[in-house]
Amino acid sequence: MEALQRAAQALASARNVLAITGAGISAESGIPTFRGAGGLWEGFRAEELATPEAFGRDPELVWRWYRWRRDICSKAAPNPAHVALVELESRFEEFLLATQNVDGLHPRAGSRKLIEIHGNIDTARCTKCSAILPLDDASEIPGSQVPSCPRCTGRMRPHILWFGETYWPGVLDKAFAAASRANAVLVIGTSAQVWPPAQIALQAQKSGATLIDVNPQPTEISAAADVFLQGKAGDLVPALLHACDRVCGEGIRTS
Ligand SMILES: [Zn+2]
Repeated sequence: MEALQRAAQALASARNVLAITGAGISAESGIPTFRGAGGLWEGFRAEELATPEAFGRDPELVWRWYRWRRDICSKAAPNPAHVALVELESRFEEFLLATQNVDGLHPRAGSRKLIEIHGNIDTARCTKCSAILPLDDASEIPGSQVPSCPRCTGRMRPHILWFGETYWPGVLDKAFAAASRANAVLVIGTSAQVWPPAQIALQAQKSGATLIDVNPQPTEISAAADVFLQGKAGDLVPALLHACDRVCGEGIRTS
């Protein structure tokens, strides 16, 4: 596969690599997007629950929804694409994985050089003192599903970027900084409909990185990519890792 070979060459010669993942990689682990008509829960759409207004009106309802989602995520397992990304992180001088996914599959697979730009379903944030804690460490308000802050007893909310909210300070800066230094950027399973992650990828390309897109369906990113690998992330990311190893092996033998 010629495209795979070209992507492997770009990775093998890169010192700094940025990877960006979206819902597609999680879908292969059986996690639904929770959006649109198929994502209805008790008659609600995600767009009606994942907002600060919904939380202000009925925090109990929003938490019940997140606990249901968290249960689905906890039963899902990382797939071979998640595992291959863990392998990749140790092979470059600099590596960053920026994910849009909140399901926690990347940290569970073992990724450490990671920023979860939309938050994480296993964490909660205090609405009073802004402490961010693992949800399991938060105490529950008696008779309610709403957790309370162990530091200040304030009400806690899911540490998730909701519709209508802006990114937390510093999060995008870190991703854009990595983009400006990257020699290769790997985009996996993102529809490119969520713009900041797509912009980060295009910024990296503008700064000289080879843009590699892995997606079952072509997107706007695929059209702009230097290499488009069409198919499942669970097949293609491990294949890319192995092809990269072969290229490096050949490099060692011939040098
Ligand atoms: Zn607090």
